[in-house]
Amino acid sequence: MEQHQRKGRRVVLFPVPLKGHINPMLHLGQILHSNGFSVVVIHTNFNSPDASSYRHFTFHRISDGLDDQDHPATTSNVLSLFPYLNASCLEPFEACLREVVSDAAGEPVACLVVDAHFHFTQGVSKRLRIPRIVLRTGGACSFHLFTALPLLKGKGYLQVQDPKLEDPIVEFPPLKVKDLPAISSSDSDKDKLLQLVISMVSTAKNSAGLILNTFEGLEQPSLDELRRELPVPIFSIGPFHKLCRPANSRSSVAHNKAACISWLDKHNPRSVIYVSFGSIAETKESEFEEIACCLRNSGRPFLWVARPDSDVRTAARISSGLAGDECIVKWAPQLEVLSHPSVGAFWTHCGWNSTMEGISEGVPMICTPCFAEQMVNSRFICDVWRVGVELEMGRNGLERGRIERAIRRLFQEKEGEEIRNRMNDLKEKASLCLKQGEGSSFNAIDGLARHIMLLESVTFGNGGISA
Ligand code: UDP
Repeated sequence: MEQHQRKGRRVVLFPVPLKGHINPMLHLGQILHSNGFSVVVIHTNFNSPDASSYRHFTFHRISDGLDDQDHPATTSNVLSLFPYLNASCLEPFEACLREVVSDAAGEPVACLVVDAHFHFTQGVSKRLRIPRIVLRTGGACSFHLFTALPLLKGKGYLQVQDPKLEDPIVEFPPLKVKDLPAISSSDSDKDKLLQLVISMVSTAKNSAGLILNTFEGLEQPSLDELRRELPVPIFSIGPFHKLCRPANSRSSVAHNKAACISWLDKHNPRSVIYVSFGSIAETKESEFEEIACCLRNSGRPFLWVARPDSDVRTAARISSGLAGDECIVKWAPQLEVLSHPSVGAFWTHCGWNSTMEGISEGVPMICTPCFAEQMVNSRFICDVWRVGVELEMGRNGLERGRIERAIRRLFQEKEGEEIRNRMNDLKEKASLCLKQGEGSSFNAIDGLARHIMLLESVTFGNGGISA
């Protein structure tokens, strides 16, 4: 990305400490840095980012109370993690931000950029008189649905049960009731989810702007709806990762990278199935078996990320029993994998980052959404953009027949060829939106940089920090 003249302003980023939230926030930091801003990152102790990959940023660690191994708020339970962090980070975050702002040697702080799930920052921003922009790391399609979730609850949609889960949500075609987040959860989890969503939407509504990792050519209808509903400027500046130079990580990932990329190098173009369900979703032991068996029976080479937290031993056992052409890793350099010519399909859980990454590399998808907004993403991938095939969990999780059918549809049937063609068109759109001077995301980044420079005077005048 082209380097702009320094602006003499700092932006302070505060990511939620989960991979799918940290990665896009750091990418956004790179984009803002390339546009002339200095970047400060305040981060939690828990899951702290690899600062060595971003030497041009300044990092400040705050305590979050998550050092206690017994704490119930784990990464796989965001319904308890997010409320916990909103309470535990308030004091340390505010103290840290005061220090950053008061540092006489530093450039003035132009604004905060916080994850949409950190609603407590609203009060901090007011007290410290620092404008606050929100980054939502999901797509516009799911955010639009979230703005209407209380209304949909009022209409009884959240209480619908089998066999009506297949019914359409008439207000949001082509979504089905079963695509609603937490639809199959307990009433108390539904309430917690609703609370999270309400806080997130309100955080965005009361901000000085909303940033989304998406592009107009992909999500214009949802973006238009959001612009009608939210009284703040919305900047669709994705795909983020295409605008950033890869960070040179020194972590253990480098080991897998060498191994799985050289394995990919040995394969024919578009022959490999890449399987990854992101950084949170867990796979049951019985599903491991089904996945392994079907992939082997498909006769296709496959690269499978079996995360250690899912079940290292199962993965190791299954891997030792496989006689086919596969590479099983604990973590893969996904951006490099997806852009590798030998990858022909991406079996994904439809996390938003994976969705954007798959689309911008033009890799057709097999969609197995697991939770949160992933069902919405999957519906858009399969039924709106039509660049993937749906592979739902059955009553007993992933079932052999369904997996085999999905692989066949993508690799052997005419439908697969059509999906591939549509995906190539979408990849082209993702590339055009970044084009200097004319692309929608390129121009939106320019608009965002100007917006940030104007914020401090417009939002709070010239007053200092209030007590
Ligand atoms: N990722 C990766 N290697 C892996 C698995 C995931 O680099 O083996 C990255 C992926 O590229 C994406 C992020 O982790 O940027 C996962 O985010 P996503 O929103 O797709 O899913 P989440 O982990 O939040 O469920």
